[in-house]
Formats: sequence, C-alpha cells, structure tokens
Amino acid sequence: MPLFADIILPTAVPGSFSYRVPEELSAQLQVGQRVVVNFGTGRKLYSGLVRAVHDRDPGLPGIKSVLSVLDDTPVATAEQLLFWERLAEHYLCTLGEVMVAALPGSLVLSSTTKLIASGPERPEWTGDGRRDLLLDALALRHEMTLAEAGELLGLRDPMPVVKRMLEEGTVQVAEEIGGTHAPRMERFVRLAAGQDTEAALHALFDRLERAPKQLHLLMRYVELSRCLSEAPREVKRKDLLRSARAASGELARALAKNIFEEYERPADMPAEGGEGGRIARLSEPQAATLERIRSGFQDRNTVLLHGVTSSGKTELYMELIETQLQAGKQVLYLLPEIALTAQVIARLRARFGSKVGVFHSRLPPRERTELWLRMRTDPDACPVIVGARSALLLPFRSLGLVVVDEEHDPSYKQHDPAPRYQARDMAIVLAEIHGARTLLGSATPSMESLYNARTGKFGFAELLVRHGEAVLPSVLCVDIADERRRKRVNGHFSHTLIDAIKEALARKEQVILFQNRRGYVPVWQCETCGWIPECDHCDVSLTYHKSAHGLHCHYCGRAYPPPVKCSACGSSRLRMIGFGTEKIEEELALLLPEARIARMDQDTTRGKNAFDRILSRFGEGAVDILVGTQMVTKGLDFGQVSLVGILDADQLLRYPDLRAHERAFQLMAQVAGRSGRRAGAGRVLIQTKEVHHPIIALVMGHDVEGMYQRELPLRQAHAYPPFSRLVKLTLKHRDEHRVVATAEALAALLRGRSGDRVLGPEPPMVARVRDLHLRTLLIKLERQGYRQEKHHLSEAIDRLFAHPDHRPVRVVIDVDPV
Ligand code: ADP
Ligand code: ZN
Ligand code: ZN
Repeated sequence: MPLFADIILPTAVPGSFSYRVPEELSAQLQVGQRVVVNFGTGRKLYSGLVRAVHDRDPGLPGIKSVLSVLDDTPVATAEQLLFWERLAEHYLCTLGEVMVAALPGSLVLSSTTKLIASGPERPEWTGDGRRDLLLDALALRHEMTLAEAGELLGLRDPMPVVKRMLEEGTVQVAEEIGGTHAPRMERFVRLAAGQDTEAALHALFDRLERAPKQLHLLMRYVELSRCLSEAPREVKRKDLLRSARAASGELARALAKNIFEEYERPADMPAEGGEGGRIARLSEPQAATLERIRSGFQDRNTVLLHGVTSSGKTELYMELIETQLQAGKQVLYLLPEIALTAQVIARLRARFGSKVGVFHSRLPPRERTELWLRMRTDPDACPVIVGARSALLLPFRSLGLVVVDEEHDPSYKQHDPAPRYQARDMAIVLAEIHGARTLLGSATPSMESLYNARTGKFGFAELLVRHGEAVLPSVLCVDIADERRRKRVNGHFSHTLIDAIKEALARKEQVILFQNRRGYVPVWQCETCGWIPECDHCDVSLTYHKSAHGLHCHYCGRAYPPPVKCSACGSSRLRMIGFGTEKIEEELALLLPEARIARMDQDTTRGKNAFDRILSRFGEGAVDILVGTQMVTKGLDFGQVSLVGILDADQLLRYPDLRAHERAFQLMAQVAGRSGRRAGAGRVLIQTKEVHHPIIALVMGHDVEGMYQRELPLRQAHAYPPFSRLVKLTLKHRDEHRVVATAEALAALLRGRSGDRVLGPEPPMVARVRDLHLRTLLIKLERQGYRQEKHHLSEAIDRLFAHPDHRPVRVVIDVDPV
C-alpha cells in the first residue's frame, strides 16, 4: 500500500503539502520528524515537518517523494502540532509561519541555509569521504550554502550529511553564530573552607582581635551573608568592600590569611543548586488566596488572580509550582519582558535551582536550540520554564500549570511577523491541550480577563493587601498648569516634584521617574514656520538623539544629520520641542547636580546584559534616581524606592486608541506600585493638567473595580472587546492610489456582510513606512458565531486578492490587534 505524508514547510503559502513516502523510508517515518523534500521551482530543498502519515492518495499528478528523514526521534511533539494548528486557525496564518516562529533557526534548513566551519582548526580526518571533503571546502571558502554543499558532494540531498556534522559540532549554521556571548562575570567572597562553622568563626574573631580592620571586614561579612542563619546569602566582593568601607588591599590580606576565599560566576545567573532556598511562610491572607486559587481550579481551567502590587503573588506562584513538580509535571511561567525580570528568575532559581530553564528571544540562538533539544531528549531536565511569549512554542510534554504574570501587559501580543498571537490567550489554549490549568495574575487585570471572571468563564481570587509592613503608596496629583502660572516649574519639573525628590534623597531613599515617550519625543521645529524634519521614506517626524547627535526615524531606523536650517523657509532659528527620557535626565542633572542618575529606555538597554547592569546598580544603591520609559513600570521590586514621579500623565490619556484609558490606568498604577514596597510609606506624584480626570482619580484610589465599571459600558456601547473580537487589516503598496482603491473595494465587499462593523479604510497614524503607503480597516466580529464570521472574512479577502488589480497590494491580517 503506498504511503503519503503531509508536510509543513517553512513558507507563507497556505495549504498542506503532500509527498509520497518511498518504501525504504516508510518504516521509520513518524509525525513530528523532519524530512527533506523539494519544493517550488528548481531543485530547492527544504527540511519540513511531518504533520501526518496516511494512505489516502491525494491524486496529484507528478507528486514528489520525500528524499530523506533527518531525525531519529520527532523534534516536535504531537501536542505542539495541535497547538500550531490552533494558532494558525485563530490568527489566520499558515502552519509554515507558525513552524518558523517555533523551531530554532538551525532546525529549519533549506537550500539557502549558510554553513560555516565551527572553529579555526580543521577537525581531524575520519576517512568519511563526504564529511572530509566538505570540511576541506569550508576551510577554503569560509561559507557555503546547503545547495553548494550538495553540488560539491554530488548529492541531490546533502541534508543528512550536514545534519550529522551539525550535531557533531564541526559545522554551524551561519545565523547561529555571533550571538554567542561571554557572560559578564561577578566576583564573590565567602569564608574559606574550614572557617565556615560557628566554632571556627569564634576562633577567628579571637584571632583577629589585634587586626581591627580585618575584624571589621569579617563582621560585615557575617552581617551581609547571614552566614549563621538558615538561609545564608552570597556576598559580592564589591558589596563587602563598600559596606565595610574597606580598601581592596585589606581584603587581599584577609584572603592571604585564609579567612576568605574568592570565586566568580556569571552575573546574570543566580546561584545554581540553591534548592531549599528561603521558602516564605505565607501570611494568612496569602494562604487564604492560595486556597481560593486551588479551589477555583477544581471547576475552572483558568483562574484570574488580582493581587495588588507587592502582595506576594510571586510567592503564591511558587507554591503552585512546587505542587506541580511533586506531581512530576512541567510548569510554564510567562513574563511579559524577560530581560526586565532578573529578579523573578533569581527568586525561582533560589527555590527550584537547576530545575529552572530560561527562554526568550534575546538568548543567543545556540542556547535556544540547546534548550529545545534538551527538552526533547530529557523530559525531566528543567521542568520549570520561565520565558517570554515565545516560550509557549517550546516542546512541552506534560504541562500541569501555566502562569501568566502581569497578564494585562501589551507585550504579550506579537505584532510582527506572523503568527501575530496574544500569548495570554494562547497560554490558555496550550494548557487545555495538556489538560493543564492557567493562572493569570496581575495588580491591574485587563478588561477581558475581569469580564471573563465576572461572567464565570474564569475562576477569580483576590489579594488586596501588601505583604508585611508595606502599605499601598499614597498617590497625589500636581497641577502642572497651576504651578506653571505661579512660575513654580523648572523645565519639566514642578517644584513640588523636585522638593519631594530632594526629601527622599535626604532620607537616603530612592526615586523612580516615569516618562512615556510613545508619540511624544524630542523633535526639532522651525520657530518661524513650524516645519519639523521628517523621514524621507516614512510619514513620521524624526527624533533627536543627543548622545548620537543625530536624527533618527523610529520606523525604518534611518539616521540623518541634525538640521542646521529650516528646509521650508530657510530660517536658522530651530528649537527642540517635546521631551523624552534623555531630556529629563539632562534637566535633572542640572537641578540636582549631586544626585546619581541612571536612565533605562530602549537606547540604554541594547546589549544583552544592559538591563541587568542598570538594575543591579540601582539595587545596590549606586544610583539614586532611575529615569525611564515603560520599562521602569514593570515588576521591579526595590525596597528603598519611596517616591515615584509620573512626569506627564496627560500624554498617556490622550493616546487615540480604544484602550488608551485602560492602558493609562495600568501603567500609572503599575509604576505607582514600585513605591513603598517595604516598611515606610511610599509616595507617588502625578504631574498633570487634568487633575480632575476620572482616570487619575482611579489611579489615586488604586481602584481596579472602579476602572472596570467605568470602562465596560463604553466598550459595550461601541461594540469593542470584550463584546466583539477585532480584526485589523493593513494594506500596503508603493502607489497610494492603488492602495486606496483596493482598500475601498475591500471595505465595500466586507460591508455587504458586516455593515457598520467595518471601520475605515483610513490612513494609520504613520501612513507611509519604508516607502509603502498604508491603509487600515478594522472589523468588529460578533462573538456569537465568531469562527464562522472569521471564515467568511478570510474567504472574502482571498477572493478580492485573487483579482489581478488587487493582487500586487499586500495585506496583513491581525486578529485581536490590541
Ligand atoms: P508581587 O509579585 O505581588 O508584586 P512579591 O511576591 O514580589 O509581590 O512580594 C513582594 C515582596 O514581599 C517580595 O520581596 C517578597 O519576597 C516579599 N514577600 C511576599 N510574601 C512573603 C512572605 N510570605 N514571607 C516573606 N516575604 C514575602
Ligand atoms: Zn521654517
Ligand atoms: Zn523612516
């Protein structure tokens, strides 16, 4: 009986691709394995993934055969394939696009994959002619595509040879290198071997009586490390020196005397094997909430946890994780932006040690591949995966729980490229496939999740008090217009805010200042005629970056020299308007010359360790004031922060977006939550012209419920989510007339069915990007019969774009765009 296989190929061409399975391969072929096939014109080779094996002849004339099988065991699991199908179906994209997003780069091979030799040295001869030939060639040519390797070896399908060499480590996929990084190392100090018992310590104290400086060093060490307690901590060399106000020579002498020893390890990797690290005893309210979550899971797959900032949500997650580990299950812990959350990872590692694996797109590709393969070969390797949204796509085998922390966060949405998925929603789908539970946690839950909890779709648990001595900070408004009238404003700082900063610094406390830059960035403007420099290729004004002394387009990345005169009227009177974090930092340095200031935004955090460096300096107290964009609103837990300043609330409230108010509330409430996280009262100051704006009042009252009650009727009145599902269509073409004509035609076609639920077409805020003109359409699909509606929509699009007039226009479909 002839066998056929349906193969997923790395392409955006929709449909499934059937191949014949030759007799000699039929015995070994399994779903989830990679196979090599020809696809498209010419002899182009691809590694594709087996989606199904069956004996139904698709009746295609000239059907091609599978050339070879690359894997002994499947690289993707059956659960994954199911999940990919759900993703592709929901977000109207192809399985190939999902596969490319999911599989690490070096597992997706094609004729154009570039190969390079792994090291400078040519590996040994093995007598395996093909391998040796390829290595010789690579030593000479440096780089070679897979197609070229095939020609060289005289093979129609060189992939099996190449794959063996990839595994052997003698060749590498070119895209995979360059990402390898040397981790930043940190030096630590501990008691020398033999000195770390209580008796030995006492002897040491006696011995050092006549060396007061070293005695002091030792006492400081005991304090910092709490080495006599049950849960000692690691001590950084520089912390010890600072805390003891000692010179490094003093420490060197103590090291020589064999009191201490030094060791080194990567800075962003918390101590390994910290298992049994501090396990918090839950407070009464925490324990009660944990019980509510557990009982919620008895009859709901998903539970929403609304816990105020610093209430101990992370502690509850860890309890739930522990339970899963004891049951032999895996856990996925999703965070919106992993780079910002070294603190959470450190806490998880301290408790679960090497059971914790970390996954996100800033990892070097090689490490991503390694984690993937480790999860496939050793299912018990790291049962707790902490990751950003792409971690959803890892090969889990038996998930018991998915935690989605900060579930309201917009970074859970992938915008480009496809699949344009919302990781919070897909976490629930993934959990369902595994028969697992999902816990959504936030201090400021999204409208959708609150709605789902109210209507009984989700279980619900609350934790409304901060842990321990901490209380929610008091939030006050500063009427910036009024202060301006009374000449109490310096640059962008009201005297009230500056005074509050000074007070906090005088008490040796720390300050966080939040300035959202979105859409309001420093630009140059002609004082005479109002001209503003714009990008030549995008309809957007250029942003001035002081450190690089140049203008940048944030849409296409082009850089321009700063303007010397106006391009419209020739005037040389140009001034800078708008303000971003860089400007704030500069003004602050003039106002408070003594303060130590750090800035955290996209420009200061490019390197892999940049976040970590800024945050650890802030945590160590080497920085007094942290100025930043939304990055500073997320999850930071620093006990010394007693003041948070929001520089321009009005700009947040004005954003033209259906979620503007929801997001403004969430951002302000979240950044407010960074203040006063330990004992002592925290403060938050909001600078605004609209002191009576209802959203500001809700932030001042930490009033999530009030927010929900205010916003829900508005959403209902306009048939916005959660009362509908949105699909956004973006059309692109170099010719503006063409894109407008196609957009009008599409709108007319869709209105036939959906009437006034079709909005647009209209030019988006930035209507031209990289020389392509854009038009958008927004469709509100009824929740009832939503699948069918979406199906019609996708058919209508296919029909229109089959027409030669419209075919050249590109359309991007974004389901649940915001
Ligand atoms: P959230 O995740 O809700 O913001 P965290 O879990 O970060 O709150 O808790 C805030 C702080 O309080 C953290 O430093 C945490 O270690 C501490 N904490 C919370 N619960 C406990 C507990 N039961 N025992 C000891 N410390 C706790
Ligand atoms: Zn001008
Ligand atoms: Zn541009």
